[in-house]
Amino acid sequence: MENTKKNIRVLTKDELIQFFEQHDMSSYRGKQVYQWLWQKGVHDFDSMTNLPLEHRELLKANFQINHIKIHAKQKSKDGTVKNAVQLYDQLVVESVLIPTARRTTACVSSQVGCSLDCTFCATASLKRIRNLNPDEIYDQVVIINQQSLAYYKRPLSNIVFMGMGEPLMNYKNVLASIDKITDPEGLGISPKKITVSTSGIPKIIRKMADDGVKFRLAVSLHSARQEIRDKIMPFATKFPLDELLKSLQYWYALTKNRITFEYIVWGGVNDSKLDIQALVKFCLQVPSKVNLIQYNPIDGNLMKQAPSKTIDAYMKTLIDSKIQVTYRRSRGEDIDAACGQLANK
Ligand code: SAH
Repeated sequence: MENTKKNIRVLTKDELIQFFEQHDMSSYRGKQVYQWLWQKGVHDFDSMTNLPLEHRELLKANFQINHIKIHAKQKSKDGTVKNAVQLYDQLVVESVLIPTARRTTACVSSQVGCSLDCTFCATASLKRIRNLNPDEIYDQVVIINQQSLAYYKRPLSNIVFMGMGEPLMNYKNVLASIDKITDPEGLGISPKKITVSTSGIPKIIRKMADDGVKFRLAVSLHSARQEIRDKIMPFATKFPLDELLKSLQYWYALTKNRITFEYIVWGGVNDSKLDIQALVKFCLQVPSKVNLIQYNPIDGNLMKQAPSKTIDAYMKTLIDSKIQVTYRRSRGEDIDAACGQLANK
């Protein structure tokens, strides 16, 4: 095995500085290395040309530099690009570039597989294998930014944590990746352009609020009725809706950042008047908007999106209740790059 040395990219800027100080070397060397690793994205220590040889040898003796690489790439007829990216230990996750007229969005993964068991999501069949490291999340953004420049001649405008995994079950590393994505010495992307999507883990939502994070929060609600949510998102029995709501009210009180509820409407699941009323009631209790999502069928699953007149009824009732609502159409369906389809094939 060649992968025996420590991955230098798990170190923070301060830890890099400390490393040099401990070796009686100037602390600014730590900053230089940080820039090489994050801003310039070099893959080997010899490329760090402003470091004396002795410093580079010290780094080589202690560390390796992990990087992800593109294992396979598929382009949809709508311009969506899906990457299967390979991690240092050969595991593979997926990340997607989604271009629209005005935006290019990177959809990134936070875990290999997922520990949750949403009945409608392809990733749920994979089980969680491990959390992604901060550098592995960061690198997905770098790759998609490069693709955005190459294919669409513009840099990435938005990042969504809506790929494989539950970001809040890997909170520490997600936060560390966002620190570097937003750091001017990293990618320098505004936190306002970043959305973290969660199936709703109250304890971590409170923690994020306490931590004063500046990114946006989306919650995959899909039902505001406990008994229905328990069926389609079985782990939700552990995180009841009233606790979720309280954590979201806490989030809003501290961040003043409105929440987006992601919501799919399925025939025979959550398509009754009762379902719509429950959603309206839920939304009115915390500043929020609703994003109705088109359902992307996954193999071996019988759930079906409700007919458009049901979706229209949802939209009308929400609008009448002064709740903002948008409808999100699928992208990249032909290559299984759409929401919930990652790892389908
Ligand atoms: N675990 C996080 C992020 C990953 S899922 C979360 O639950 O939010 C990203 C989004 O895709 C979620 O809103 C999820 O509910 C949605 N999704 C999952 N399967 C889907 C499918 N088959 N069709 C459409 N959206 C789906």
